[in-house]
Amino acid sequence: MRASCVMRGSPIERICIVGGGTAGWMTAAALSNRLKGLPVAIRLIESSEIGTVGVGEATLPHIRAFNTTLGISEPELMRATQATFKLGIEFRDWGRIGDRYIHPFGDFGPVVDGVPFYHHWLRLRALGDTTRLDDYSYPVVAAEQNRFRHPSTDIGAVESTFGYAYQFDASLYAAFLRRYAEALGVERLEGKVVETALHPQSGHVERVTLADGRTIAADLFVDCSGFRGLLIEGALASGYDDWRRWLPCNRAVAVPTGSAGPLGPYTRATARTAGWQWRIPLQHRVGNGHVYCSDFISDEDATRQLVENLDAPMQAEPRQLRFTTGRRRDFWKKNVVAIGLAGGFLEPLESTSIHLIQDGITELLALFPDTGFDPVEIGEYNRRMSLHYERVRDFLLLHYVATQRDDSEMWRHFRALTLPDSLAEKIEAWTTRAYVVPYEFGLFLPPSWVAVMMGQNLMPRGHDPRVGRTDDTALRTRAQAIRSGVTRAVAGTPDHADYIRRSAAAASLAA
Ligand code: FAD
Repeated sequence: MRASCVMRGSPIERICIVGGGTAGWMTAAALSNRLKGLPVAIRLIESSEIGTVGVGEATLPHIRAFNTTLGISEPELMRATQATFKLGIEFRDWGRIGDRYIHPFGDFGPVVDGVPFYHHWLRLRALGDTTRLDDYSYPVVAAEQNRFRHPSTDIGAVESTFGYAYQFDASLYAAFLRRYAEALGVERLEGKVVETALHPQSGHVERVTLADGRTIAADLFVDCSGFRGLLIEGALASGYDDWRRWLPCNRAVAVPTGSAGPLGPYTRATARTAGWQWRIPLQHRVGNGHVYCSDFISDEDATRQLVENLDAPMQAEPRQLRFTTGRRRDFWKKNVVAIGLAGGFLEPLESTSIHLIQDGITELLALFPDTGFDPVEIGEYNRRMSLHYERVRDFLLLHYVATQRDDSEMWRHFRALTLPDSLAEKIEAWTTRAYVVPYEFGLFLPPSWVAVMMGQNLMPRGHDPRVGRTDDTALRTRAQAIRSGVTRAVAGTPDHADYIRRSAAAASLAA
């Protein structure tokens, strides 16, 4: 039997979002937009004394759909958040020291005779061809040359074969969305939540109390309080699935620097002995950080490694963050939905955190409750969000296990690891015949898996047998034409920094 403190099935009239980081303001903006015109009051509580996590710069292309739904203008957003464009991520030293590859937001070549091009490339390679798979990808070659343009709307053009995202200051993004949400009527309350009252029978959160004594009651609470999970864990003890056995990195040290060199339309992730280092160029600065595992390196050495590998002077003191990789057992429990770091955390190797916030919001809107809080809908939400997180976990872990490195304790640790079945099956299908098993609710589509597996030298033994249908000479001619098309298209693509200056520069870059 379902227990509820209010009449079952009446519409939600009061929503309280606890937390005003990126998750809180993305949620507030989306709910205020999608519930516009309905008698729903949305309040957001945040504490400037506690502050936000204050990092988070690289995004995925899906964020554009989020912004478009809200009616946000791209140039305005880019100016407000110091954003640059992002075509993918460059990985250095992951397969072997000295290797580099780009995981692009796009495919490698077109489908030829019904088969993805990389299978044909494998065949060409077996015939002695030495061209790079990368040379068939417009976003890879454009990124390598620091060039960018928006995708063409002509679906026949090479310049239409990619997506793009942003590299921006997530705190400025939150501030931008705050202005948006407040204009749509979201009420912001400054204060620190010190107490949570539960309904004695249902166990639902009834109200929260702030340090100054104010109480805020609501039908639905969205917990965006960051790692602490004030409501979902603090009040409702959801529990946490700890994934450190697979992803043991548990700390990061972050530092901004000035800009150096050309403005790359890509994020960089360089593997280190006990983790990896990020470099994310924005218009006004570069974000840098070292994600590492404290079992394998001290904080001092991790900071030293970061500082020694910066390419421009630091603009602040390095700042340390701690985390535990994993996710809440229940993202949604009773009348509380946890979004953002309150729901879980996976290291930012593939820029997935803000995307997982977006997933949390999208699924909440799809399964938006009434005050009955149907357990079937809650169960479905938790099922979907668990899958979103697990898919990302597997993809991140792939980077650590598809490697030939064994030069440090961390890399040897990964050699001996028992993989989750879901990832082991995926790797097996790949190594057997270059097949990427697609799945439900997977963020990363086959081209992403191909990029990482090929990029890290996990070469398949076979390929799709259908490629044998294509005549070898015809295949070589076709491959040459695809490469030339990419080369030509990239040559006609503007320089990334110039392109931003013309369309969306903040004062720092316009100067
Ligand atoms: P927070 O930013 O921690 O916000 C929590 C909010 O809750 C704050 O407003 C705080 O004041 C409030 N709060 C907490 N307790 C109380 C209380 N008692 N009373 C009132 N208010 C309270 N993501 C990406 O997509 N790309 C990246 O490149 C990326 N890099 C990252 C690097 C690192 C090292 C880390 C740790 C994270 C990174 N992320 C990245 C993740 C990204 O920073 C977060 O997902 C995102 O900022 C969302 O954070 P949040 O809003 O959930 O939490």
